[in-house]
Amino acid sequence: MQGYIIWTQSQKNEDLIVRVLTSEEIKTLYRFYGARHSIVHIGRKIDFIQESNGVFMPKLRQVLHVGFKWERDVARVYVWQRFMELLHYHLRDIFALDARYMEILDEGAKRLEVQNPKRVALEMYAKILHHEGRNPLTMRCLICEQYLDKEPLPSTLDSDMLASKSPESKAVESIDKNMEIAILRGFLSAHKVCASGQILTYAKLESYLSSASTIELSDDEVERAYQVLLLGM
Ligand SMILES: [Zn+2]
Repeated sequence: MQGYIIWTQSQKNEDLIVRVLTSEEIKTLYRFYGARHSIVHIGRKIDFIQESNGVFMPKLRQVLHVGFKWERDVARVYVWQRFMELLHYHLRDIFALDARYMEILDEGAKRLEVQNPKRVALEMYAKILHHEGRNPLTMRCLICEQYLDKEPLPSTLDSDMLASKSPESKAVESIDKNMEIAILRGFLSAHKVCASGQILTYAKLESYLSSASTIELSDDEVERAYQVLLLGM
């Protein structure tokens, strides 16, 4: 069986508890003397056997490292490991999974060989959003609820007044997409004056989220979007 190590926790005697994402589930396994084995590291793809006696936590046995060439590049490994930490936290209460998560990681691991690692991480995340049916793109400011291309509403207005002052809904096409907006955790949007966050234009954010591609983002914009990703999935 194969999977990616998305989390490890040290136990006594250099033992480790290891969470492994496979194409069917996230397994929580026990590895004796795991800390001594360089293979058992967050981010690694492994081939392994699960051994259960029905009493204790199943054991991780016969571990083989399924290596990638980019694992010799510290900068790539660092981005990959940070992504695994975010993914582990996002899936912390999940056990059963469908195969798409493993596919997304496999595709990403392959592309990491040649592409900017932060672009790969951002694109993997957008694919996860698509898969989970989540779309953070909104035309209204998360904080004041006014349209993003309109002046923010004064913060003194209470929610009843806010509702009555808000214009009727409008089509996405009618939004000025060149406006700069503040991007908050989870790629939610706000007016620049309503919240502090990384700045992108609405058009760039829309392009990234809808196509799951960073092709229209400059390296500088990728860096800003990557900082948003690091806030959490
Ligand atoms: Zn606002």
